[in-house]
Amino acid sequence: MKVALVTGASRGIGAQIAKSLYQAGYTVVINYAGNEASALNVLESINNKGFIYKANVSSYTECEAMVNEVMNKYGQIDLLVNNAGITKDNLVLRMTHEDFKDVLDINLTGTFNMCKLVSKVMMKQKYGRIINMSSVVGLHGNVGQANYSASKGGVVALTKSLAKEFASRNILVNAIAPGFIDTDMTKVLKDAVKEEILKQIPLNKMGETEDIANLVVFLASDNAKYITGQVIEVDGGMSI
Ligand code: NAP
Repeated sequence: MKVALVTGASRGIGAQIAKSLYQAGYTVVINYAGNEASALNVLESINNKGFIYKANVSSYTECEAMVNEVMNKYGQIDLLVNNAGITKDNLVLRMTHEDFKDVLDINLTGTFNMCKLVSKVMMKQKYGRIINMSSVVGLHGNVGQANYSASKGGVVALTKSLAKEFASRNILVNAIAPGFIDTDMTKVLKDAVKEEILKQIPLNKMGETEDIANLVVFLASDNAKYITGQVIEVDGGMSI
């Protein structure tokens, strides 16, 4: 049995990651923040091979309770995918400290919380894979996303540091930097904004959640056993 814990797996990219990992043979723990109905739909779509767990990743105690529950049920965690994330976009002059902090707390501290807890399990196992969801804007910045791009840039630096710390324990840590993927997160953008973004994408279309999930399955597999500390952009050429 292989066990994966995917944060933010009730919708969008995380939901597809859960489905693709199930197809690759994993039992999947589906973490979510509040949307229980969606989380249950995802669980049903993977034939109940796993369970759903509500936890706000920005809370260390909630993360700890979730990891304890997974260990009580399965006794192992082979793969952690830190996918949970939010946006609270605004120009920096209008951005409140609260909106800056909320995004950092969930996207970056949430990733740290889960890495800290699960790496302890993986060290004992002498095996593990961690995949962190960054973003192209974490590498290149973006107008109106100072909080989000800072959080995602932090995820890149965290990934590289942990890859160095954990390599001797056979724990590989990589990050994926998606471009413009069709999910609830991007549905809220105005059509004019979407058109502008599309002009910057050589492949001239939005990515699908499968484009990200396929890479997760590859990075989790034995075929990726010599890859660690990398950030892979999946963006239709947006960052060329
Ligand atoms: P989404 O459709 O908005 O889904 C977000 C997921 O995260 C939901 O499952 C949500 O749970 C969960 N979540 C939110 N806050 C949470 C918290 N505090 N604790 C635990 N779970 C939480 O987002 P998405 O587009 O799939 O994005 C997934 C990841 O990819 C994010 O990290 C995002 O930053 C990154 N990304 C996305 C794009 C894109 O174009 N879509 C591009 C680059 C990077 P509920 O359903 O319970 O609310």
